[in-house]
Amino acid sequence: MKSVTPIRYLFSARAIQQGALLLGCLALGASSALAADFQYTRPAISPEGGSGFEEKPGWSTTSFAVAAANPLATDAGYQVLKAGGSAIDAAIAVQMVLTLVEPQSSGIGGGAFLMLYDGDQVHAYDGREMAPGAVDETLLLDADGQPLDFMTAVESGRSVGVPGTVRMLEMAHEAHGKLPWKDLFEPAIRLATEGFAVSPRLHQSIASTPSLAEDSIAAEFYFDADGQPLAEGTMLKNPALAEILTRISEDGSSALHTGDIASELVARVQQHPEMPGELSLEDLAGYTAVEREPLCNDWLEYEVCGFPPPSSGHLTVMQILGMMAERPPIETAIHEGIPTVEWLHPFLEASRLAFADRGRYIGDPDFVEAPGGNWNSMLDPGYLASRAELIGDRSMGSGGAEPGNPGPLMTSWASQPEQPEHGTSHISIVDAEGQAIAMTTTIEQGFGSRIMANGGTGLAGGYLLNNELTDFSFAPTDDEGTPIANRVQPGKRPRSSMSPTLIFDGESGDLVASLGSPGGAAIIHYTAQAMDGMLNRDLNAQEALNLPHAITLGDTVYLEEERFPEATFRDLQGLGHEVEPRELTSGLQALRVTEDGFFGGADPRREGIVLGD
Ligand code: GLU
Repeated sequence: MKSVTPIRYLFSARAIQQGALLLGCLALGASSALAADFQYTRPAISPEGGSGFEEKPGWSTTSFAVAAANPLATDAGYQVLKAGGSAIDAAIAVQMVLTLVEPQSSGIGGGAFLMLYDGDQVHAYDGREMAPGAVDETLLLDADGQPLDFMTAVESGRSVGVPGTVRMLEMAHEAHGKLPWKDLFEPAIRLATEGFAVSPRLHQSIASTPSLAEDSIAAEFYFDADGQPLAEGTMLKNPALAEILTRISEDGSSALHTGDIASELVARVQQHPEMPGELSLEDLAGYTAVEREPLCNDWLEYEVCGFPPPSSGHLTVMQILGMMAERPPIETAIHEGIPTVEWLHPFLEASRLAFADRGRYIGDPDFVEAPGGNWNSMLDPGYLASRAELIGDRSMGSGGAEPGNPGPLMTSWASQPEQPEHGTSHISIVDAEGQAIAMTTTIEQGFGSRIMANGGTGLAGGYLLNNELTDFSFAPTDDEGTPIANRVQPGKRPRSSMSPTLIFDGESGDLVASLGSPGGAAIIHYTAQAMDGMLNRDLNAQEALNLPHAITLGDTVYLEEERFPEATFRDLQGLGHEVEPRELTSGLQALRVTEDGFFGGADPRREGIVLGD
């Protein structure tokens, strides 16, 4: 595994500064616990191979742990926790480093959902991107009223939503931060200034996104003088990002949402050479993160808390697991590390049914009413039992699953056709005081809209703008003109699949686990499978993430390529499933509470690691 040089921690003993910090915390209503000053020490750490499947050991820790998709990001969170920072403090440091070292997946130009357990209550912070005020339901249609080609829409100014990640982190930090906001940017600023080695995965992501070279800023930054993608190991500095992060560290989110940095962001979107967008300065200045009521539901002997709409993640994960729980117990779910057909068939049938409901009902709750007036109607045990009865010995087959009726609706919706999604990162953290977070963070596709912004600094580099608005349904209605719940509307947040999840013991209420994943709509299958493996099949957090994946959104079943025997394909086809192999690159991170502390796992398909003490 990675070699990690011993890390030195520097604590300032300046009593005056600490006193000032204490007063600052009290004034902001943040935790009054006095944490030490934080100073970042650059580690000698770099990712190994970034693709394929690399065995990972899993990691045991005793008092705190952080799991993220890149070793430099994990390490930044580790140093913050080591210095006495809280889980949200660590998450901020991790996110800022990810903006630099995993720019293809998440960053300050995107959105995120954060589940946070403060040792007593569970909070759900929504930093999802928002549609600009000037757009309407024709945003993703061409001049003839037909849905735009998906990638044409992605690589345009129209796909860029108002970013929300920084505002959301700021809101959560005001309530749960211990270390000063400013300090948490130090790791990313330092790495951006001094340079970091381009990881194998970043290299591959650049190489597989040639259109990134069509953006003038990105072309100069991510490609060498011959126009080749930066090689693995290239030392890359990002002075524009260092400057932008410094300003956010000093002035908070308003440095991104107003002023020069905001003006340049708007100009990049509005002056897109092929297809400009309408995101405005007013949209940026007016964006607010939202604290929502988390959804917490019983499953087995646990209480599972996840993100409510606009994410479809928790509802769909829990529908799948809930339907499986209504069925007779499975004798052999996993054989020699591979899911059996006895497990796969009901899992895939439950997925078909859950995705049919997802496509019909779920959208931004500020625009879309829940069936029966409450999203929990979709998880009602009686409803799930009736849905589970539809699972027979043979598959209902491609397109065979229809949405159910969880509760009466004032409006009738049409189903949304499935669209591709990719490019996100997941962070799980537990701190020494028992606070925990699960945060999934995204710019949607790899490198988002492929538009890079430099904050008007005139310096090299910068950050990527999201293409989250392509998570809306392109078509606003079905062929009969019935509206689709997740259609574009001004000021609306697109439906997500992100499933950051915190799990508690149903009786004691103690924290049991934190997990989540990137992977577009397949996030839902990856998360459900990892939960089932970890909490229902006695696998440790790493073994659960290693399991070969199987997904369906309602039509074809995809089995993770080269991970299943021929017999699995044959047997599933025999039951009426259409089956194809496919690369299914999840990026799960999971932390499980154990008797001695925590055991963490990072996805063997990506570069993540877990660190802690
Ligand atoms: N944009 C997607 C969502 O919010 C996530 C994309 C991905 O994970 O690849 O559901």
